[in-house]
Amino acid sequence: MKIVDEFFGCDVFGPAAMQRYLPHAIYKQMIDVMEHGKELPKEIADTVANAMKDWAMDKGATHYTHWFQPMTGITAEKHDAFINPTGPNSVISDFRGKELIKGEPDASSFPSGGLRATFEARGYTAWDPTSFAFVKEKTLYIPTLFCSYDGSSLDKKTPLLRSIDALDKAAVRLLNLMGYHTKKITITVGPEQEYFLIDENLFKQRLDLMVTGRTLFGAPPVKGQELDDHYFGNIDERVKAYMEEVDQELWKLGVFAKTEHKEVAPCQFELAPVFSSVNSANDQNQITMDVLKRVARHHGFVCLLHEKPFEGVNGSGKHNNWSFSTDSHENLLEPGDDPKDNIRFLTILAAIIKGVDEYQDLLRLSVASAGNDHRLGANEAPPAIISIYLGDELTAILEAIEQGKEYVENTNRKLELGVSALPPISKDSTDRNRTSPFAFTGNKFEFRMLGSSLNISCPNTILNTIVAEELTQFADELENYAPEQRTEHVISMIQKTLKEHKRILFSGNGYSEEWRQEAKKRGLQELKTTADALPHYTDPKNLAMFEKHKVYSANELHARENILLENYYQVVLIEARTMAYMLRKQILPAVFEYEAKLATIIQTKKASGINSPLEEKILFNINEPLEFVSNHLETLENLIDKVPASEKEKAQYAADELLPLMEAIRTLTDSIEQNIPKDFWPLPDYNDLLFKS
Ligand code: ADP
Ligand code: MG
Repeated sequence: MKIVDEFFGCDVFGPAAMQRYLPHAIYKQMIDVMEHGKELPKEIADTVANAMKDWAMDKGATHYTHWFQPMTGITAEKHDAFINPTGPNSVISDFRGKELIKGEPDASSFPSGGLRATFEARGYTAWDPTSFAFVKEKTLYIPTLFCSYDGSSLDKKTPLLRSIDALDKAAVRLLNLMGYHTKKITITVGPEQEYFLIDENLFKQRLDLMVTGRTLFGAPPVKGQELDDHYFGNIDERVKAYMEEVDQELWKLGVFAKTEHKEVAPCQFELAPVFSSVNSANDQNQITMDVLKRVARHHGFVCLLHEKPFEGVNGSGKHNNWSFSTDSHENLLEPGDDPKDNIRFLTILAAIIKGVDEYQDLLRLSVASAGNDHRLGANEAPPAIISIYLGDELTAILEAIEQGKEYVENTNRKLELGVSALPPISKDSTDRNRTSPFAFTGNKFEFRMLGSSLNISCPNTILNTIVAEELTQFADELENYAPEQRTEHVISMIQKTLKEHKRILFSGNGYSEEWRQEAKKRGLQELKTTADALPHYTDPKNLAMFEKHKVYSANELHARENILLENYYQVVLIEARTMAYMLRKQILPAVFEYEAKLATIIQTKKASGINSPLEEKILFNINEPLEFVSNHLETLENLIDKVPASEKEKAQYAADELLPLMEAIRTLTDSIEQNIPKDFWPLPDYNDLLFKS
């Protein structure tokens, strides 16, 4: 086997490949374009396109595709061959600059939320040279943005890039006002990805898994996660072979896959990459999800990225580790030993605290989806209430600062509070609180509410923008002071922020009922469902902030809100239809068959003068819930046929009408399952899925 540094990134058109395939002067221009997010000069486009094509064809590629991330959240691609006819029977391989820079997929079926009238259905894709092209399965993938003809974003990536600019601008301005010189900041993200692996043959026997990604029925298995024996356990050979292939594939594609381990639930695993810039982390996470799914089939597995495939065991999330650093690679969320650096750290920390408190609704909605609603607040994932965990020491320091008191360190070393003597903050001062949705983990924040299938651009877009907003407010205020007065004023700004926003800080058990009550008292929002959360997208304060930082226009926000509300409704509706179908076509017939068998036994025994109390009891235990299921099913079928008028009403209908009824049907059906012999039950059960995989 080749060693990793010989092939890492070999399928990526990165600096090494560019250097080999491009004339030196153009190579340097390309690096400049990528590093500074500049536009590609038209006159070099043909040369770059040609070099890219030659490189890709040397890797066996025959096609290229503009790869983009529409509002469906899944990446989209349409493949074109590298050929141009030169006569009736001849072609040459060809790829021009204009084909690289701009594509026009017939994209009329992607959701636009009304941003694009059908008569001008074609959106266009524009190359994003800040993310590397790559070759996969004989195709050159060109990362692109997807817009309508008036330039409105129809995708997830464009707002992310705009938010990077917004945070860059705001942070550079504030830092320079405070006397720190940096020309640019880089936002870094490391998304930890959880997933389930189950046997492909079993998967194919369950319509619910195939269509919706989760089990809509299933009595609990005989063993769940009570023994905590799966977490970090030995990885068996078949899974090990799978993970090895996943790593190889990802490394070839330049993804820094680093850590793989078993997670809490049976058949659950995690893959963590080394962090990279947020733009590339976003694309790489899309690639990772694709590779996880694709490679699974080579090993007879199916990889489930759904947030809650199985009831009763943990679901899957994605921890979004987020930080930003200066152009000299100083991590701005790294508390230093030098008090001078600490004031910078504390200022940024204060801005984040203020942003998270003021825009709780946005952070909540950035992770909202039908799948994730099953996790949040379900004693395995953070609650649907946003709060920040800082660890004991940092909390104590902030309290001291807020009250203008001196801070007494654990070691009893007293530290005067003042500019020249802000306390040193030790790096490992944070312990881990798994129950917090937004936790400071030493040198980064870990946003833990993301669902496993989520495209990470939305939460990062929102995080970047709210922090940009707060840093801008700080900068606006500081500008009124002479440079030598600024440090002192910064301290009072931090104090004021802490006084006004400390309600968002919480270090206790986020899964507990007491916290929900306490959070309510503090006035923190609890937006339980996606239907509750999404309409906040267009709250006036949120509209104003996004427009101010040019991240989303009002039209784009309205469109997004509608697309996501509609999507939520459609996901739930499909689940409801799948449930009804499985009941009518599979489950009810099987139950009737077993009931008939029991009835025959009872009758036969009766004819011989023998009582059958046991059989009668089982028959009763099946038949009683069965009658409810049958009634509920009719109601569900009626509900499925009703279509509320607006997107908002549809989402609320899904949350208030469809889902609770489906939950009731499931509970009843699961209790029937427990009384039916395995041979009669028409589906692989939880024991099969979780232990035969
Ligand atoms: P764990 O949470 O399992 O203890 P780590 O703290 O080492 O693991 O890191 C978790 C994730 O955070 C990894 O993907 C890592 O690359 C990422 N990470 C570490 N430092 C940063 C940073 N400065 N910015 C963004 N992500 C980071
Ligand atoms: Mg983590």
